[in-house]
Amino acid sequence: MESQPFAGQVALVTGAASGIGRAVAQRLARDGAAVALLDVDAAGVAETERVVRALETPVRTVTVTVDVSDAAQVRAAVERAVAALGTPAILVNCAGISRGGPVAGLGLEDWERVQAVNLRGTMLCCQVVTPLMAAAGYGRVVNISSGTGVRVGPGSAAYAASKAGVIALTKALAGELATSGVTANVVAPGITDTAMTRAAFGTREAIEAAAREGRIANPMGEVLEPEDMAAAVAFFALPESRHITGQTLHVNAGAFMP
Ligand code: NAP
Repeated sequence: MESQPFAGQVALVTGAASGIGRAVAQRLARDGAAVALLDVDAAGVAETERVVRALETPVRTVTVTVDVSDAAQVRAAVERAVAALGTPAILVNCAGISRGGPVAGLGLEDWERVQAVNLRGTMLCCQVVTPLMAAAGYGRVVNISSGTGVRVGPGSAAYAASKAGVIALTKALAGELATSGVTANVVAPGITDTAMTRAAFGTREAIEAAAREGRIANPMGEVLEPEDMAAAVAFFALPESRHITGQTLHVNAGAFMP
């Protein structure tokens, strides 16, 4: 049997209905964690629960439908997860959206919604969960930013600003939690084949072409998979990663090297 570094731990994953969040939930469950699956998409999160429960080893799960941008909903969702599974040792903030365009024509509604989900949502989940972790004397927070939060291209202002904000938020949190046994780090994915990317590029073939030839081309020329991000999340979540905090790990096949 494979080793299970997260046996006996609870992981709370937002954006768990799809893409990177689903892969993270699967990875942490495979590695022994009980998983609280949070997402605004109730059907998607139920499907993730089905997939996770089909794993070889029995996994404890709870699903919660929540809009992470809403403070009251986040508080209620975390209470529900804790009641079902116990205090989270791991928090992974994957919920995110991408909207917008060039600043000149950027609608305020799009700007506000992207900040609300990507940045405020991440902050709210950290704000509710990390005091529980600190009280327990142990925790691993992993926030999902984006390469776009660091290497910013035209037309991405709303999304890039929110993702740069996630990196800054995580650094602040890492300092605040330094003596509490809780670490906070960032995984910054490169272009990864998920529903979000399919919406932007259309097809797997278009994503592959972008990986080989586009602005986000990477030296490996390969499309990244959600499981690649889950592996990086699992690394930060390990108990022995205790002295790694406030860091950003770019999983981008060498597309750029900040
Ligand atoms: P995805 O497949 O679209 O998954 C995102 C999930 O978040 C969806 O299930 C979505 O539900 C959910 N969500 C959206 N708004 C929410 C809200 N207000 N409250 C709770 N859940 C909400 O996208 P993904 O590619 O896996 O993205 C995961 C994270 O990785 C995001 O933060 C994204 O910005 C980041 N990222 C992705 C890439 C990439 O290339 N895919 C690159 C860099 C960073 P709905 O589908 O119903 O909206």
